[in-house]
Amino acid sequence: MHTRRFRSRLPLRGGLLRAVSLLAPALLLGPGACSAPGKPAASGPSVWTAISLGSAQDAGIPHLACEGPHCREARARPRLEHRVAGLALVAPGGRWWLVDATPDLPEQVHGRGRLPAGILLTHAHIGHYTGLMYLGREGLDARGIPVHCSPAMAAFLETEAPWRQLVALGNIELRPWGPDGRLDLAPGLGVEAWRVPHRDEFADTHAFAFRVEGGASLLYLPDIDAWEAWDRDLRRLVRDFDWLLLDGTFWSAAELPGREIAEVPHPPVSATLELLAPLLGAPGSGRVVFTHFNHTNPLWDPDSAASRRLACAGAETTLSRRVFPLGPPPPGDGARPPRE
Ligand SMILES: [Zn+2]
Ligand SMILES: [Zn+2]
Repeated sequence: MHTRRFRSRLPLRGGLLRAVSLLAPALLLGPGACSAPGKPAASGPSVWTAISLGSAQDAGIPHLACEGPHCREARARPRLEHRVAGLALVAPGGRWWLVDATPDLPEQVHGRGRLPAGILLTHAHIGHYTGLMYLGREGLDARGIPVHCSPAMAAFLETEAPWRQLVALGNIELRPWGPDGRLDLAPGLGVEAWRVPHRDEFADTHAFAFRVEGGASLLYLPDIDAWEAWDRDLRRLVRDFDWLLLDGTFWSAAELPGREIAEVPHPPVSATLELLAPLLGAPGSGRVVFTHFNHTNPLWDPDSAASRRLACAGAETTLSRRVFPLGPPPPGDGARPPRE
C-alpha cells in the first residue's frame, strides 16, 4: 500500500477554524434536506472535516436496565450525541470514512447520506466493531466495503463467527495495516495507527492519528487503560495535534458502585485534566475534547460540577462540539486550485 509522510501544520486555529464553524450547520444536514425539488443537492463541505457521530461508551445510553439520572434523561430526550462514540472523516465534496462500526451504525451512516468509502476499526470491543453486522447477508449485503484495521483485528474478523461470513461473502474487504504504520486513506489525508494499552481479549487496540496535508491534525483515542501505561507522552501530543479526541469514559474512579473499576480500567477525566492542566488553553496547544462517556459519567449533565470544572480547565466534550475542521481540499481535487 502506498504511504507518504505528512508534516503536521497548525494553520487552523484562526480564520479557517471560524470559517468552517460557520459551515457546521450545513454539514449536519442530511443530503438534500433543504434542497428544492429539481435543484441539485449541495456538493458537500469544501474542506476536510471530522464529525463526531456519538459520545457514549460501547453499551450506549440509556444503558440496559439503568434507572440512573443520565439514562432517564436520555430516554426522555434522545439526542444524536447519545449514540455510541464514532467519527466521520469527510472529504471535500462529501466522500467520507467511518471510524469504528458501532451498534448505532445504521443511523450514523444515514446521517451522512451515503455509504462510507471505508471503515477504520480501533479494536474488538462491542462498541467499536459490531456494527459491521449490518453490512452482511441479513442486512445491506454490501459489496467489498474496505475495512482498515490492524493485522490482529483482521485475523479476528477473518476467523471468528459470525464476522468471518462477512469476509467470505465479500461484504467487507479487510485491509490490514500497521502496527504503527501509516496509510494514505485518500489524497491529502494520511492516518497512522498507534498501538494503545487496553484490555485486548480478542485483538489489539489502536488510536488513529489523522493529518490533512497542508491542514490540521486530529488524534482519535476513545479507549486506553492508563496514560502512564502508554509509550507516548500525552502532554507532548497536546503540543503536536490540533484536535485530540480522548477517552472520557469515567469522570472518577468512584463511579461504578458495586463493580470493580479495575475490570474496566480507563483514566478518569478528572485525572487527565490534572495531567494536562498547564497545557489546556495555552498558546500552541491543541484542543482537548473528551468522548466515549459511560452512562454513569456526570459530564452527561451540562450543569454538573464536573462539566463546570472541565469547561473551566479549558477542555471540551463531543456533547458540546461535534464538528472539527481539518483544512483545505487536496491538490487536484478540482474543488479549488492547488495550494502554492
Ligand atoms: Zn469502547
Ligand atoms: Zn475498549
